[in-house]
Amino acid sequence: MTNFGFVINNRTCIGCHACSTACKAENEVPLGVARTWVKYTEVGAYPDVRRNFQVTRCNHCANPPCVRICPVSAMYQREDGIVEFDQDQCIGCKACLQACPYDAIHVDPDSGTAAKCHYCSHRTDLGLEPACVVVCPEHAIIAGDMDDPSSEISQVLAREQVTVRKPEQGTAPKLFYVDGNDFALTPTAVPRSPETFMWSDVVPVSDSESEGPIAQSQGHPAAGPIQYAPGRAAEHMVQVGYTFHHLVPWHWPVPAYLVTKGIAGGLFMLMSLGVLLGLFPADPGMFVVGGFASLVMLGATAALLVYDLERPERFLRILTHPQWDSWLTRGAFLLMGFSLLLGGWWLAETLAWLGVLSPASVVGFRGLALPLGCLLAVGVTVYTAFLFGQAEGRDLWQSTLLPVHLLVQAGVMGGGSMLVLAQLFSLPESLSIVSAAVFVTGLVVDLTAILLGELGMPHATETAAAAAHRMSRGAHRRSFWLGGIVLGHAVPLALMGLAWPMLAAAAAVAGLYFYEHAFVMAPQEIPNS
Ligand code: SF4
Repeated sequence: MTNFGFVINNRTCIGCHACSTACKAENEVPLGVARTWVKYTEVGAYPDVRRNFQVTRCNHCANPPCVRICPVSAMYQREDGIVEFDQDQCIGCKACLQACPYDAIHVDPDSGTAAKCHYCSHRTDLGLEPACVVVCPEHAIIAGDMDDPSSEISQVLAREQVTVRKPEQGTAPKLFYVDGNDFALTPTAVPRSPETFMWSDVVPVSDSESEGPIAQSQGHPAAGPIQYAPGRAAEHMVQVGYTFHHLVPWHWPVPAYLVTKGIAGGLFMLMSLGVLLGLFPADPGMFVVGGFASLVMLGATAALLVYDLERPERFLRILTHPQWDSWLTRGAFLLMGFSLLLGGWWLAETLAWLGVLSPASVVGFRGLALPLGCLLAVGVTVYTAFLFGQAEGRDLWQSTLLPVHLLVQAGVMGGGSMLVLAQLFSLPESLSIVSAAVFVTGLVVDLTAILLGELGMPHATETAAAAAHRMSRGAHRRSFWLGGIVLGHAVPLALMGLAWPMLAAAAAVAGLYFYEHAFVMAPQEIPNS
């Protein structure tokens, strides 16, 4: 069985960028993105300086998280070990960009689909070597079958001491560096700033706020063909001189969808559990208005998900070409199942409430819909935690407590939304009491969990700690503290004390959006390459 891999010899690489250029030409890679690039790290202070080159690209991992997370098998692993992609299948969900711990994938600006190094598989299939291998004047890139003991790559691997990027991720990269340099291999080890970059404009990683040390290159030339940024190059002990950090893939629609999904699931869980546990009566008016609000929020959730796709017209492929290992696929089916059940049940309840159906005729359906819908609502609420878990490029999202956290937040949003509905419509008194209790308890638990998690618990990795720092003390500190903590928790608790439930619910929902925004954005802004 063939098992393709790369060896890149940093000892002989001269940083000429011929490989990057050949890749661009061979694969018709558009301006502004790159499938392979040469990262520069510079060490020392002038005149005692040294520049390290690292050819950077997809590692064709033996255990590729990008393949697992892809909902439509557009990213897949071939029998010969090449991790390949199919632009005709890709829906542009950008989940693979979140899963790759090496920042190897980008969205092709022409096609709106994911793209990366694919080992020049069109050449490999003809028995040719990848374009970067052929063009390298130093033979610093060696490609071949690692399972063939007579191949050059096998012999180099047997002879040389090699390193890979981030071995702790468990992805088993199949790109090995001879003389791998720790500063280049570990993206967060070296500060990067616009002043130290050459040959490229540097733009802030976030549209929310720029913060010095983290920046990304879009690869556009600055004024002139070769130009150093103002000031002396290599004036720091260690600095990044050039790299190609890709743009942040997920923006406001993702935190917004977390909120709308939380309201939809929270409302249904509250109604079903409250009735099943006998906390309040099975009030038809509650079912009609609560079910309608839940349906509207579910519709908004689906609309946000489709809107966030780079190829929204392809969204049905998740249902027609599902890849079942992906939590994006599982989530889509949970959302669809919940929508169908919720829609059917709400229609029946509404027809009974209008007198078109007899009230007795919906009792049996209700007895089935409430427990089944509750299970689906739990699934819809928590599946995002498992999707974030598959996003292995974002360490801050790898929390085993995230499903519980999402359930608590759904309780806050469901309880708060039901409080608003109870003020607007004539609903049972006991429903208002239970909703207020769920809302306030959820706020207190959520606030405690955020503060303990944020201020009390150490983070598992240095990358997660950097993301948490950026969230609560860096670029997103205002969203986190003023939005998430003050507006999302402290203000609603105070307003509940003043018996202003509608304002309290509105503040909580708005504040939770700000919190989710900080939580979603910060880890994406920590460089992975
Ligand atoms: Fe390549 Fe990244 Fe996928 Fe590994 S996880 S195969 S480096 S795209």
